[in-house]
This record gives sequence, C-alpha cells and structure tokens, in this order.
Amino acid sequence: MARYTQAVCRLCRREAQKLYLKGSRCYGPKCAWEKRQTPPGAGSGGTQGGKKGRIIKPSDYALQLRAKQKCRRIYGVLETQFRRYVREAQRERGVTGEALLQHLERRLDNVVYRAGLAPSRSAARQAVRHRHVAVNGRVVDIPSFSVREGDVVEVRERSRPKKPFALAKESGGGAQVPQWLDVDWSQFRVAVKGVPTREQIDSDVNEALIVEYYAR
Ligand code: SF4
Repeated sequence: MARYTQAVCRLCRREAQKLYLKGSRCYGPKCAWEKRQTPPGAGSGGTQGGKKGRIIKPSDYALQLRAKQKCRRIYGVLETQFRRYVREAQRERGVTGEALLQHLERRLDNVVYRAGLAPSRSAARQAVRHRHVAVNGRVVDIPSFSVREGDVVEVRERSRPKKPFALAKESGGGAQVPQWLDVDWSQFRVAVKGVPTREQIDSDVNEALIVEYYAR
C-alpha cells in the first residue's frame, strides 16, 4: 500500500494546526508549525493567491474537504483506503461518523501508537511493517489490520530489547492510553478491551463534515 512520503510538517501548515505526526519533535521547539504558521506555498505575508490580508469565507465544500483531509492525515491513510472505511461505516448501523472513527482507531498501527509503543503513527506503522508486532501470537505486518475486542497485540520477544521499544517502556509509553486498551509493560502487551466509543477517541476531527463530504 502506498503512503505519503513528503515532508509531513507541510501537512500541519496546510491544516493550520499541529497534527502531531513526528513524535517527540512535535512537542519541542523544532516543531515547524511553531516556527512558521502559514500554509505551504504562501508568501511571507501568509497568503496563497488572492490579495494580502483579504479574508475569504470558506464554502461548505471547503470545510468538508479540509475536515476529510485533516482526518486522513492524522491517521496516515490514503484516499482510496479512507473512502473504503467511509463506505463500510455507511453500511453499518449507528452513527456513520463514529463508525468511521472506530475503523480508523482499530487499525493496528494506531493501536501500537495509542498504547505508547511508538511515538507516532508513522513510527508505529514502521514497527508493524518491520515485523516487530504480533497479534494473538502471530506476526502481522499489515498496518491497516483491524483489531477486534479480545485481541492481544504485543511486541515480539526478540524485538523488545530494541531501542525504540526500550525507550517507550522507560517513558511508560509517554502517552495517555485510552480506556479501550490495556497495556502490560512487563510483556509489551496490549489487550483490546472493546471498540472505542466517540468519547474515548480524542482525535480533533469533525466526522460529521466528513460524512457530509462523501454524501454529496
Ligand atoms: Fe506538525 Fe509535528 Fe511537524 Fe510540528 S513537528 S509541524 S506538530 S508534524
């Protein structure tokens, strides 16, 4: 599966907020958004086309598009796969926006990140791709693998001494683990206790706008 390989800090500038895509760097003075809060391609005056200082009210479509793009970028999912999640969510009972976020949260790379085993989703994705992670005792190297209630995700025993995981353990994950996950650091093991509710998903996304975007 293809993935975005360009400079990710541009994405924060495009969405005009920090998306926390680079782990610890995002919390320090080297964060690109802290240094320069203009959209990519904008001049020093902070505009991109149009007259300097002119405020243009975004259309409904523009708001929906931005909400969708921001969500995709937070979770590191390309358009085709994102659309597939939306279609699946639309087929399910319940609130479509919440179901969409549940699909995204249940991705294996997201679980590894949320549990604090990796400092960012891209690092978690790499850990999965490099076969450091197992689900229910079997190695899974597919970042989009969807975990279910009762699954046990763990770092493979031989990978546990590796620096990124040792650092993660030292800092206790450094992340606030959501209630739907239970981490046992002595075994580098994460138990999936259930499907996350909307309240348990702290991603700053407006899922209603995303649903509207795909309902056009
Ligand atoms: Fe975004 Fe992190 Fe880059 Fe800052 S360091 S601009 S939060 S990806």
